[in-house]
Amino acid sequence: MIDAASKTNAPPPKILIAEDDPISRSLLELHLEMGGYSYVSAQNGREALELFQREQFSIVITDWLMPEMDGTALCRAIRSHPSDSYTFIIILTSQSSQEALVEGLEAGADDYIIKPINPAELRVRLTGARRILDLESALKRSLAETHELLIHDPLTGAFNRGYMDQQLKHEVQRAYRYRHPLSIMICDLDHFKRVNDTYGHQTGDKTLQRCVINLNKGIRNNIDWVARYGGEEFVIVLPETDAAGCSIVAERIRERVAADPDAGDRDAIKVTASFGTVTLLPDAGKENTTPSDLLQCADVCLYLAKKSGRNRVIAHTTTTMEAN
Ligand code: GH3
Ligand code: MG
Ligand code: MG
Ligand code: MG
Repeated sequence: MIDAASKTNAPPPKILIAEDDPISRSLLELHLEMGGYSYVSAQNGREALELFQREQFSIVITDWLMPEMDGTALCRAIRSHPSDSYTFIIILTSQSSQEALVEGLEAGADDYIIKPINPAELRVRLTGARRILDLESALKRSLAETHELLIHDPLTGAFNRGYMDQQLKHEVQRAYRYRHPLSIMICDLDHFKRVNDTYGHQTGDKTLQRCVINLNKGIRNNIDWVARYGGEEFVIVLPETDAAGCSIVAERIRERVAADPDAGDRDAIKVTASFGTVTLLPDAGKENTTPSDLLQCADVCLYLAKKSGRNRVIAHTTTTMEAN
């Protein structure tokens, strides 16, 4: 939930000033200093824009009439600058005509102050600006949290099935576009029903969590990824990894799941897992392998791994995908 009130203690943001008149600028600087704000000053819009491009400011106070680039042009330039966060723009004007104000607001200013600046008015305008900025960052945090919830499995923290379906499609497209290999594996815990039956469902859940920790520890950070495919089945995706690399990783994580080296005494339920793997080696002219083909091939190998005794890796062999 967005709670702007709890964020009003955020430190005052550094303000960018654009003002050509030295006296007005000094006065504004003085008011800001007295209000506890730090600032950087520019003598016209162009100079302000250069400063803004180097360091993004969340509040800009800009004069209306300035040489080289005026306040409206600066507003437009800031609004067209790609940015991750919002910039609140206050435009200063001695023209109190409605037309001038409308033009400034249309150019992207959020608020205005009529010169000469009244310090009390400046203070409340800045408080309003910070309230808006706080709301914006609360909203972004909330969206980021929602996004995390949408793509992760709540029990294990692995990516969920929805994310997997979407992301695997992209990985296959990328593999074809750059002609890079792509390996995937399906991992299924062995006799997991017995863990639940013997130790209870909660211990079963903890065991699933430990399994995902071990899978993640055995792969490359931020490149490879793990998704929960079903109950005690996981898909591990290894971009830019050929069949030899995939076999090494699969063996390493198989051993890690079985040994669970970092488990504390209380988590010490030993499980093993079986793995089916497949590698796509994109070949010019053949771009017809789908994520579902890959999953199906890996699943067939997983079935063979189960049939041939469990706690092992079986790799797929075909001609359109890489022969192992
Ligand atoms: P196999 O080696 O052939 O894979 O045997 P298995 O017992 O692992 O396979 P089976 O498909 O018979 O059982 C899977 C078990 O996984 C049954 C199900 O209750 C359990 N399971 C699935 N999801 C969860 C979960 O979220 N938590 C817990 N604790 N258990 C789960
Ligand atoms: Mg001026
Ligand atoms: Mg299963
Ligand atoms: Mg199983």
